[in-house]
Amino acid sequence: MIGLVNYARDPHSVELRELPMPEIGEDDVLFSVKAAGICGSDLHQYSGKQSWLVNYPVVLGHEFAGIIAKTGSRVRGFKEGDRVVSETAAVIPADSPYVRQGLYNLEPKRLGFGYGVNGAMAPFVKVPARCLHHVPTSLSLEKASLTEPCCVAYNAVCVNSRVRPGDTVAVIGPGPIGLLCAAMAKLAGAGHLVVIGIPADAHRLEVARKIGAETTLGAKGENIVEWTKNFGDGYGFDLVIDVAGVSASLKLALDIVRPAGQITKVGWGSQPLNFSLDPLVLKAVTLQGSFSHNWPIWEKVIALLASGKIDLGPILNRVSPLNEWREAFDEMHSGRIVKGVLKP
Ligand SMILES: [Zn+2]
Repeated sequence: MIGLVNYARDPHSVELRELPMPEIGEDDVLFSVKAAGICGSDLHQYSGKQSWLVNYPVVLGHEFAGIIAKTGSRVRGFKEGDRVVSETAAVIPADSPYVRQGLYNLEPKRLGFGYGVNGAMAPFVKVPARCLHHVPTSLSLEKASLTEPCCVAYNAVCVNSRVRPGDTVAVIGPGPIGLLCAAMAKLAGAGHLVVIGIPADAHRLEVARKIGAETTLGAKGENIVEWTKNFGDGYGFDLVIDVAGVSASLKLALDIVRPAGQITKVGWGSQPLNFSLDPLVLKAVTLQGSFSHNWPIWEKVIALLASGKIDLGPILNRVSPLNEWREAFDEMHSGRIVKGVLKP
């Protein structure tokens, strides 16, 4: 089979390669991939700029949906032909205290598809059955392949943050995860929703309006802090979700959050901070990180996608065969499309 392999740390060390069929164990399934979403982290590995360890060579892709081609002898609850999606924690130590309490997403030794073990940008991938969830027939496999980023957003907005109906919410960073966080905030009952970007995000900010943002800021270089002083009662946002891929956006978050408000940080940024955290103290802000997702979140998100309550239409802009991976990566990297899906 032909898969998309990231073979070294040097920039652009990604190519299509002939690969052996995966061999499965008794607790695994052979997963026939019908759709694999392109994630920002795939783009980071493509440019060699990731901050995590990669087990080279490795097949990229951790957002995927498909059909079970074969089951191991001990697999129960799933059979050949079932439509499924897979979580991302491919390898977890069974005796970890975090695994035991269902927080395997927070276990430092876990390994994920696409960097730790071979991922889904190939016709077949080996998947432990514990990672699987059924996909209802009302949900297409292309849309189902985006369950994973939806779960990242659900965890950040609906589990780790508290949104009450009418709360004002600002999302900093209109990439795929930021836009999905905006969609989740609306679903959770947010009042006035503001999505904040930079001039290069003009297209993505238009998408933000389609998914429910009342206001978008940054496309014309607006002063966000001044705007916030004139917004509502002038005290700032109940919740700021920081999904920008730079550390500095936390300063903006602290400037625009209201006293006793919350900041949830989802975006990564390896740069050290060079500003005072005194506003965090002065405003008594609750600041929390949010990472990945676990089983109950997947079940909720699949139901929301199947019912149409999460509309991926404005976000899923390109479905391509695997051999057009480079064009799809480039279009996503440039922001011309929000999200692309490959069909291996
Ligand atoms: Zn992802």
